[in-house]
Amino acid sequence: MDIEENVRGWVYVITNAAMPGLVKVGFSLKDPVLRAGELGGTGVPHPYKVRYDALVTNPRKVERRAHEILVGELDRKEWFKCSAAIAIEAIRSAAERKMLLEHESVPADEIKQGLDAVANSRNEWLRAGAYTGNCSRCGTFLKFSIQSSSRMVKCSKCCRDVPIAGFQRVG
Ligand SMILES: [Zn+2]
Repeated sequence: MDIEENVRGWVYVITNAAMPGLVKVGFSLKDPVLRAGELGGTGVPHPYKVRYDALVTNPRKVERRAHEILVGELDRKEWFKCSAAIAIEAIRSAAERKMLLEHESVPADEIKQGLDAVANSRNEWLRAGAYTGNCSRCGTFLKFSIQSSSRMVKCSKCCRDVPIAGFQRVG
């Protein structure tokens, strides 16, 4: 029997901020965090980040299967044009969901970006429309409409920027 059948090791997903939209799927017999450190070396502006790792039996075989699943997204050796979530699902499927351990990590900055994007699109939607009210600087009655995500509007009389929040939305 092939000794590799019983070897346990890691299959992982690594990303790098310098390569947006690409993920590396690989296997290692040592902790993937160490592997990410090796990839980094010197002169790399962004560190490689382990986004997911799974301890599996026969990691070489699981990695090969995961690569087969993702072959349509292949960019270059071990790097694929897909999200980390898709790569993770490919590994789980390749391991027939028999992961001995697994760990998934979504960087805090990415969670924040996602929340900001949701908040911004909602605020933009809330702000777009027609407004009336008096300029808080010169008192002139204004009627205007905005499409953008701007929080300020330029008064047509005194030319100063006044906050849109001080006006009443009419449409
Ligand atoms: Zn004004």
